[in-house]
Amino acid sequence: MRVFVSVDMEGISGIVHGDMMMPGEREYDRGRRLMTGDANAAIEGLVQAGATFILVNDGHGPMRNLLIEELHPAAHLLSGSGDAKPWCQLEGADRFAFDAAVFIGYHAMAKTFNAIHPHTIAGAAVAELRLNGRPHGEGGLNAAVLGALGIPVVLVTGDAAACAEARAFLGEQIETVAVKEACGRNAAICRPPSATRPEITAAAARALSRLPDMRPYQPERPFRLEVDFLTMQQCDRASRTAGVERLGPVTVRIVGDDPWQQYRTLWAAIRAALYEPASWLA
Ligand SMILES: [Zn+2]
Repeated sequence: MRVFVSVDMEGISGIVHGDMMMPGEREYDRGRRLMTGDANAAIEGLVQAGATFILVNDGHGPMRNLLIEELHPAAHLLSGSGDAKPWCQLEGADRFAFDAAVFIGYHAMAKTFNAIHPHTIAGAAVAELRLNGRPHGEGGLNAAVLGALGIPVVLVTGDAAACAEARAFLGEQIETVAVKEACGRNAAICRPPSATRPEITAAAARALSRLPDMRPYQPERPFRLEVDFLTMQQCDRASRTAGVERLGPVTVRIVGDDPWQQYRTLWAAIRAALYEPASWLA
């Protein structure tokens, strides 16, 4: 069995603040070790349940967070800047005919109460993302794109809000591990990694052994994919991307009938929205 593992950082055991999540910040090295630890816990469970190939895609910020020297030997690591990965958090998912996917360290969508750093893809640009009219976060959206490839998501870990969101979109049959309960954007009641990692390992093993119970998340196609940006300037820039149609002052639609290509276009649009023009053009 081949398993695709997408790892984010906001929903990792013990991480509650931006100072653990970005290069140059005071506690970033601790954040990286914690992230690698939760990923390893999942990989161990997948191996126990018979996984034969595991691709781990580092999907947070600079996308070079996971420490390969501490990574479980059964894994392959897809590491590298978001600029070099057109599919970002799902890069590589179309390359190896995966049987299942796992999301580790995921967070809740933009505007969620009591969640660590809730946002959708880029908090600095995206106010809301909708798929077929329903607001989606990264967990739901990524699962839908993987679903279009026939890949079910079987396990999601994160804070309690992220886990509840995952079950609401993907169904109660999936496995979830809530490693902390947020009291706000930057505070949570956390359980130590010594408690959460064995749970993640057990849940990963259970999830993969229950693969016949799992089903891909497949919203009706073609996807009606819309994004509201925070500012009109961001929407101006995003709208110049091929495959993006402007619907209003801050709203675009990502056109197309292939979700995998729409996801790439979505990321291109968000990159364009975030990138400031060179000073001589501004
Ligand atoms: Zn992240």
